[in-house]
Amino acid sequence: MHSSESQVPAMTNWAGNISFSAARFHRPASVGEVQQIVGASKAVRALGTGHSFNRIADTTGDLISVTDLPRIIEVDSQRSLVRVSGGIRYGEVGGQLAAAGLALSNTGSLPHISVAGACATGTHGSGVGNPNLSDAVQEITMVVPSGDLVTVGRDTAPDEFSGSVLALGRLGIITELTLRIVPGFEVSQTVLEDVPDDQVGTHLMEILSSAYSVSIFTSWNPMVPQRIWRKARVLDDNGFHPKSVHPKSWGGRPATVAHNPLPGMPAEHATQQLGVPGPWNERLPHFRLNFTPSSGEELQSEYLLPLELAGPAWAALSEIRQKIAPVLQIGEIRTVARDSMWISPCTGQDSVAFHFTWIPDPVAVLPVVTAIERQLAPFRARPHWGKVFTTSPEALANLYPRLGDFHALAQRYDPTNKLGNEEVDNWFRAVGVPSR
Ligand SMILES: Cc1cc2nc3c(=O)[nH]c(=O)nc-3n(C[C@H](O)[C@H](O)[C@H](O)COP(=O)(O)OP(=O)(O)OC[C@H]3O[C@@H](n4cnc5c(N)ncnc54)[C@H](O)[C@@H]3O)c2cc1C
Repeated sequence: MHSSESQVPAMTNWAGNISFSAARFHRPASVGEVQQIVGASKAVRALGTGHSFNRIADTTGDLISVTDLPRIIEVDSQRSLVRVSGGIRYGEVGGQLAAAGLALSNTGSLPHISVAGACATGTHGSGVGNPNLSDAVQEITMVVPSGDLVTVGRDTAPDEFSGSVLALGRLGIITELTLRIVPGFEVSQTVLEDVPDDQVGTHLMEILSSAYSVSIFTSWNPMVPQRIWRKARVLDDNGFHPKSVHPKSWGGRPATVAHNPLPGMPAEHATQQLGVPGPWNERLPHFRLNFTPSSGEELQSEYLLPLELAGPAWAALSEIRQKIAPVLQIGEIRTVARDSMWISPCTGQDSVAFHFTWIPDPVAVLPVVTAIERQLAPFRARPHWGKVFTTSPEALANLYPRLGDFHALAQRYDPTNKLGNEEVDNWFRAVGVPSR
């Protein structure tokens, strides 16, 4: 048995809905060790912080966490870049950058998620001008199936780079990433509550573009008013200022107490609200780094589609509210700017994202997930790769013009399909990946 290797005692993902089927779990302490494990393995995969809700990170062979690799957060302020190790969590990078007066331009809702794992699935925050987190990546270094260490850069190999970052862990084990950074900025977060449902439907685009980052939290129950969370940049050069947040309140009123995005969960787990300005890394995520996020008792799904279709898509989902509401804890609507990654849900299109935090009951939830996919099919909705979905391989091939190119790139690095797994192979079945 390898020094860093252990038998896997029924290891699960964060939500506990997936038990990994790996024969061995490794936490290598050096890149050389990662190379040895990958080179010798017949089936291998990387595990980040385990925050995905499907079998995307699973393998029957060797599951590798890069958490114990030497910790790197190295700022190059001259070139506006930060180099980080793959296992680093966004919250750790954010703290260090903010202390140095620097920033990432956006974050997801959770600071606990690893940078490599988030970028691998297209994790995003919100904002009409903010692409998903993988768009900030400038270079990656990964251990590829042969055991070799390969670096792919945005400037040195632009096309291949666009297939290699948001790659579902399919090409290699990422040991390092270099991210673009910007000057530090402050954000003030305010919540509008009791916004009537019909106001949201009518003014969706206006609301979603009313601050730097906007989330609409909805129960999809027309009788329950909605909450609009707005994160505005303070005194920035794009004209965002707390006082310049869209003055309308769409029939709602500013909250006078702090909230948690999840109904019934403690407000102190959520980042500071009530308009108190503070550093970007303590406002852009919904949850604080030093608290357990959410409850874990949940499943999640999310669909991304062209931003200009937000209104009709809202109307289509409204037709099946009576199915959605009973199995939903909370829904969230966000925006994500376009990017150029081959298999990004936002590739080539500014997008709206309809997110669903479900009750932890797959039997009750899965038929509703399929019903949502049926409603959103006319809008060419792409599922979030890290969440629960039932979209067919044929539909995925149709939604992603470069899925075939991605499969060809994977075959080049991985001719024996070491880094595939049952779930991911199935997604790519329609572009020629055989079933296991
Ligand atoms: C409470 C909660 C809140 C969330 N909020 C958001 C949100 O705001 N926005 C959003 O878009 N998503 C959100 N998600 C989903 C989450 O961001 C994604 O599932 C993300 O991929 C999880 O990252 P991870 O490090 O846990 O990766 P894992 O789930 O561990 O792995 C995901 C994929 O990344 C690959 N991977 C991980 N590490 C590496 C590596 N070093 N090298 C190569 N491949 C690697 C794995 O092989 C796998 O394919 C949320 C999830 C939870 C549980």
